[in-house]
Amino acid sequence: MSLLTLSFDNGPDPDVTPRVLDLLASHAITAQFFVLGKHLVTEEGRRLVARARDEGHVIGNHSFTHAVPLGEDPRPDAVEAEIVATDALLAPLVPAPKWFRPFGGGGKLGPHLLSQRAVGHLRAHGYSCVLWNSVPGDWLDPKGWPEKALADCAARAHTLMVLHDIPNACLEALDGFLHRAKDLGLRFTTECPSDCVPIVEGRIVRDLSGLVAAGG
Ligand SMILES: [Zn+2]
Repeated sequence: MSLLTLSFDNGPDPDVTPRVLDLLASHAITAQFFVLGKHLVTEEGRRLVARARDEGHVIGNHSFTHAVPLGEDPRPDAVEAEIVATDALLAPLVPAPKWFRPFGGGGKLGPHLLSQRAVGHLRAHGYSCVLWNSVPGDWLDPKGWPEKALADCAARAHTLMVLHDIPNACLEALDGFLHRAKDLGLRFTTECPSDCVPIVEGRIVRDLSGLVAAGG
């Protein structure tokens, strides 16, 4: 039986995230949420993270601004401004385990994702680094993304899918997708396929050479 891990990135959003959580609850599915620090500065954003946590979802850090991928960010304090600043807001809600997902390039994997300093920080602070193996493009095609998503699920034993709990992305077609996925016998999990987690609790377990920029 094929496995499917759903992850929702770039939230929490006050309009979309509650509806995603309602839908997941109605299907008895738990998922991953990779949140942005800039959305945790409000009480409402933090309340949504607390709700997701209490409903059994995995919560991780997805940078503060989501502006420049870490491997391309020239700021000497990029790690502090993106990872540490988000953790300062997230850790009081979800202290451990620590998850981080880099971003960039519409979901393409490559050396733009991480810097050497970011890797050093993730190792020193015991993070697990979560990538993905499916990006069906919900933000590009809010109605049609499930076709690509289901094709991705059919292509491998364990799919780790990136969706987005932001406006004009996965929400509109999510309920239909979940029904179809269940009808096809996909089993939902919050576990990750091992080839999507190159750093586990601070230990590098897979080759990072294609994921880290040269230099600082
Ligand atoms: Zn993102």
